[in-house]
Amino acid sequence: MVTEEPGVPGPRHVDRGLADDDALLGDEDEEEYAPTPQDWPEEVLRPRTQVPPGPARPCWRCAFPVPSGTSVCPECLESARHLRLVGTRPQLDIRHGEGPPLRLGRHPVWARPEVATALRCEEDVSRCHATIRLAPDGTLWLTENPAGTSNGTYVNNERIPQGTRVPLHDGDVIGLGRRVALTVLLTDP
Ligand SMILES: [Zn+2]
Repeated sequence: MVTEEPGVPGPRHVDRGLADDDALLGDEDEEEYAPTPQDWPEEVLRPRTQVPPGPARPCWRCAFPVPSGTSVCPECLESARHLRLVGTRPQLDIRHGEGPPLRLGRHPVWARPEVATALRCEEDVSRCHATIRLAPDGTLWLTENPAGTSNGTYVNNERIPQGTRVPLHDGDVIGLGRRVALTVLLTDP
């Protein structure tokens, strides 16, 4: 039995007043008290179905919540599928989508700025070293500068011919020269 402090405002207090009018029912009437919808705050009554069904993933570029099953971000139009390039020498973790290739090298204008900055002290790496392109069909391609590089470009420790595009796969390690190694991750949410 729930007892009620005298003087506490609220619906229960009002109801008690009605019960007191009928002495025969007494406290038994309190057992039958059921809260009416107006007793509950708005957030409790609001239907749960207002939450959109299915999980949304934040866009890798702009963080907009992209509904599951959608391949293009409705906010920035970037493809959900993208390339991630991770390295410890140099310390690098960048993402790149479909469209223009990702340019790797030490050239501060030609190469992607974060890459050029990270590689600035790596003398094994040419200024315009190589590009990676993510094609619309989901395939990844690495191309060394057609003019060649001083120290070569490698995929899983195997040197690739200059100017010829070679396929890349998720988990491949590309070498720019012999000392810089970057892991390629193909993310397809
Ligand atoms: Zn976006």
